[in-house]
Amino acid sequence: MAHADILAANGLTEAQVTGGTLAVHTPIDGAEIARLKTHTAEDVRAMIAKGVQAFAAWRTVPAPRRGELVRLFGDELRAEKENLGRLVTLECGKILQEGLGEVQEMIDICDFAVGLSRQLYGLTLASERPGHAMRESWHPMGVCGVITAFNFPVAPWAWNAALALICGDPVIWKPSEKTPLCALATQKIFEKALAKFGDAPDGLLQVVVGERDVGEALVESHDVPIISATGSTRMGRAVGPKVAERFGRAILELGGNNAMIVAPSADMEMALRAIVFSAVGTTGQRCTSLRRLIVHEEIYDHLMPRLKAAYETLPIGDPLADGILVGPLIDGLAFDGMERALEQAQAEGGAIDGGGRVLANQFPDAHYVRPAIVEMPSQTDIVRQETFAPILYGMKYRELSDAIAIHNDVPQGLSSCIFSTDVRESETFLSAVGSDCGIANVNIGPSGAEIGGAFGGEKETGGGRESGSDAWKGYMRRQTNTVNYSRDLPLAQGIKFEI
Ligand code: NAD
Repeated sequence: MAHADILAANGLTEAQVTGGTLAVHTPIDGAEIARLKTHTAEDVRAMIAKGVQAFAAWRTVPAPRRGELVRLFGDELRAEKENLGRLVTLECGKILQEGLGEVQEMIDICDFAVGLSRQLYGLTLASERPGHAMRESWHPMGVCGVITAFNFPVAPWAWNAALALICGDPVIWKPSEKTPLCALATQKIFEKALAKFGDAPDGLLQVVVGERDVGEALVESHDVPIISATGSTRMGRAVGPKVAERFGRAILELGGNNAMIVAPSADMEMALRAIVFSAVGTTGQRCTSLRRLIVHEEIYDHLMPRLKAAYETLPIGDPLADGILVGPLIDGLAFDGMERALEQAQAEGGAIDGGGRVLANQFPDAHYVRPAIVEMPSQTDIVRQETFAPILYGMKYRELSDAIAIHNDVPQGLSSCIFSTDVRESETFLSAVGSDCGIANVNIGPSGAEIGGAFGGEKETGGGRESGSDAWKGYMRRQTNTVNYSRDLPLAQGIKFEI
């Protein structure tokens, strides 16, 4: 399918994708596929005002009825899964299977949110005063700004938006400047759901096209009580304090530096498959990509050669083609970052296998690379950094406590796992003295989370939680209610105040 046909299949018209200043390139061959008009900070302020108006109406719609809109949206996504999945691949370069998987994740969170729309529950609490009832109510918060990264152009937005919408909050979406077409296509799908729904207020979903400046306009506005921002730790450092300064609520989903401990009792075949998928999937450009492999010294010399052999067979190429497992990096900057990291790793004592550009003749304007395995003498500076590329650092350990210490000795705290069939080891890894990450798995890799659990991480990953479990509470305000149905006015703590 030609690039232009993928845009057309997603309802993106010639007029919509030309005539602007924001050039969008596909990482597949580097070609420019759109030149979008961008919004200004002034436009963003107008959008926020529209969102505030939408909120006034939407918050009064019963939550299960709000869920009906998300149900309709999920249905439209099912119908458009193939088209949108292809656009995800075209715009961010992940293989089609993963592009389709991302859309499936959107559908899954819609299903989850529909059920949840009938379960926005609060507690009833025991009052110390006779004739009093105490309970918690959850109310809509207001406009929710959602800032997203290039590597997951649609799913993390959906984790936020599906919940925000059933919670009564309109959404303003600022997608990555590298992947705005996926957002515009999603908006079209959402509009179909809106048309079927009938009486939703205008402005429930608005998309801001542009670079950091328009993101900043959203972040700085007092009329946007929730900012959910996914991206680099550098971005989170800028956004977090600005939201805090105005006492807004920030949900930060930032960088990861995820590890796997492979214990002597591990099922080696399973571990190998999990390592390869989580280290090279999405060309190492997942926040949950496996970046550090901490292997017991008894099995290290057995595992590493097998891993290198598996890497040799990886099909690298056009991510839209059948059978390809490794697509391109997003752009030349990402390639330069990978090269620099490998140079530093070598200088810090690393032995590199793989890496380097491939398919440069076929795709002179794109950046395909061989995924790299780097055996490190210890966890040096470069290993502690998140390089957003397929580099897997291998290290040895002797005692589990040492492996956990190495594991936790990085600034990030997103995802983690252990491969072990020893219950003592695996439970230790999940315990208070184990992994310090927001996600900790046993016998599966660190990437590829399901939507049912809360997603997010600690330390420089930002502390936010999205998607499943009770993450919905992040999009509502909690109110404690005390109702006196007696004929007296007793004060709490037995205080006497007679007049
Ligand atoms: P990025 O930080 O460069 O950009 C992310 C988004 O933030 C973009 O939309 C960008 O325009 C916007 N932005 C940047 N600075 C801003 C500012 N000062 N104010 C407002 N908006 C601003 O990240 P990227 O290169 O697109 O994505 C890769 C990074 O995202 C990696 O670090 C990866 O780990 C992380 N990521 C994290 C998660 C997660 O859930 N934890 C998920 C996906 C990606």
